[in-house]
Amino acid sequence: MKQAYLTIDDSPTKHTNDFVDWLAARDIPAVFFCIGSSYTDLGIPCEGMEQRPAPILKAISHGYIIGNHTYTHPRFSDLSLAEMKEQVLKTEKIIETLYRQAGKSRSHKLFRFRDLDRGCGTWVVDFNKTGPHTETIQELFLKGVNLKAVTPTAADFEKKEAFQDFLRAEGFSADVYKDITFDWYKDTELAEAVDSLCTYSTSDWMINPDFKEYAKDWPYQSVEALKQKIADDSWLASEESSNIILAHDHNHLFTHTTALLEDMLHQGIHFREFK
Ligand SMILES: [Zn+2]
Repeated sequence: MKQAYLTIDDSPTKHTNDFVDWLAARDIPAVFFCIGSSYTDLGIPCEGMEQRPAPILKAISHGYIIGNHTYTHPRFSDLSLAEMKEQVLKTEKIIETLYRQAGKSRSHKLFRFRDLDRGCGTWVVDFNKTGPHTETIQELFLKGVNLKAVTPTAADFEKKEAFQDFLRAEGFSADVYKDITFDWYKDTELAEAVDSLCTYSTSDWMINPDFKEYAKDWPYQSVEALKQKIADDSWLASEESSNIILAHDHNHLFTHTTALLEDMLHQGIHFREFK
């Protein structure tokens, strides 16, 4: 059977409540990677858990995992190590409070970077060390990423490593993503990550109507194009390994994202539990 973990970024929004209902009705487990407080994304004002706690409380009470997706959604290569840590810790306080209010204990501490910017911009991993897997990993992480491809400095790499150590010391882990056995994952730095990565991006954000004026040059322009991306992806079709799917909870995107998830169900993908 094709197996995948579903991870949803950028909650809460006005759709989070409906998203929880949609997933619960289909018995689909998921983690919602949530932002702590208000921020702007491409000029669009967005809310965080401080402004909109109710749907997050509901997600927790329905057994969904709340992951840490920073306090104000910055790209971490723009921050100092101290600022990176502050982004995590402020968000942790909010998540802990919401779990307490919901009367639930927290089963997993998961963290995801904005745009998978792990402190080294587009270099999700050190491409000097990915050997025969470089092309596969670049295809996965660089296509359509709205960032300049800049080679990181030695100081950037050091900061990235120090932040991984910090996450580990704070009790974060990616051990929950068992059974990711693609060689390009298990034989590279991807398998060492303490943060949550992905093996398939729905790229749903590219068809967010709010981003329309920026979207002209983006590689996917419609739900149909993104369904074709699903159909064409050989890793997603593989039964040899589980996948980690990245989707988004954005204002005005709910019907598109759920159409893509519905399509994955039709393709025989089973969304597995986080144990
Ligand atoms: Zn995000």
